Amino acid sequence: MMIVMKQTATEDEIRAVIGRIESVGARAHPSQGDEVTVIGAIGDREHIARLELEGAPGVDRVVPILKPYKLASSQLKHGERTVLEIGGRKIGGEHFALIAGPCTVESRDQMLTTAHVVAQAGATMVRGGAYKPRTSPYAFQGLGQEGLRLLAEAKEQTGLPVVTELMDARDLEPVLEVADVIQIGARNMQNYSLLSEIGRSGCPVLIKRGLSSTLEELLMAAEYVLKEGNEAVILCERGIRTFETAYRFTLDLTAVPVLKELSHLPVIVDPSHAAGRRDLVEPLSLAAAAVGADGVIVEVHPDPENAICDGPQALRTEGFGAYAARVQAAAAVAGKAAFVGA
Ligand code: PEP
Ligand code: MN
Repeated sequence: MMIVMKQTATEDEIRAVIGRIESVGARAHPSQGDEVTVIGAIGDREHIARLELEGAPGVDRVVPILKPYKLASSQLKHGERTVLEIGGRKIGGEHFALIAGPCTVESRDQMLTTAHVVAQAGATMVRGGAYKPRTSPYAFQGLGQEGLRLLAEAKEQTGLPVVTELMDARDLEPVLEVADVIQIGARNMQNYSLLSEIGRSGCPVLIKRGLSSTLEELLMAAEYVLKEGNEAVILCERGIRTFETAYRFTLDLTAVPVLKELSHLPVIVDPSHAAGRRDLVEPLSLAAAAVGADGVIVEVHPDPENAICDGPQALRTEGFGAYAARVQAAAAVAGKAAFVGA
């Protein structure tokens, strides 16, 4: 249920409503909009209905949230967009984020070179995997703790917030020490215990759409994080499995405006994993920006031919600045504020 407070509602009245929701074992998720405060009440519907909050002081109305995802639903925010601030960088609303870096942290030189290039180009955050989900158990699985240490060094040298993947809740503590955003990969999108654990950690989360997941399933994954009181969730379209075999995955750009209609959360696009080919990354990035994405996350490598992982889809560090400028121009067409050099 969603409790919409009156514009004149006082802090005390809001607190009292929250207290009553909690008194029946439900959770209250207040969100303060520009005009009114809305409180999402998540729990047993009957118990909440019995509180008869319609008549409580300061309450304007009580309306059911019709979608199965409640806290992720745009209804909860009255169409207002969520803008997240991560390490001083904004994402969502009019703020476009360019997240860039290698697929995998391979070495100090590779990580730091890439981080400096993307920082110079005006990237919003740097990415790099220390724990990698690989199709083959015999493939390189990432540098683990050493990778995290190198990411920390990249952050220290460039000032860029770090996005890195977590696959196993047992690694949460060391990952939290360096990550500004934890990435949940496509293969883990429905790992509900992992999502809940990250929700409880409070660390911002980037959730990638599963290879064959519907938008509703993606939003339900976000709901697992939000339900724990963590409001910092970014959704990511990264290509889905279809009958097409000419490229790695089919980038579902229709998902961007539709997710933005269904949810208030920022929506970004990963053209690298969708395409699997470097030459497609720029056109798909421009399309993503033009369709209204709140950002793109792309892979960049100083020597893609010798990359351990995902080399064929990595943009070269050389020329990355020009790529970033063109993405910025496309984002501007969609009404986003400048990010390069910001
Ligand atoms: C990645 O970002 O390197 C990655 C493995 O992505 P995905 O989970 O989308 O395949
Ligand atoms: Mn990759």
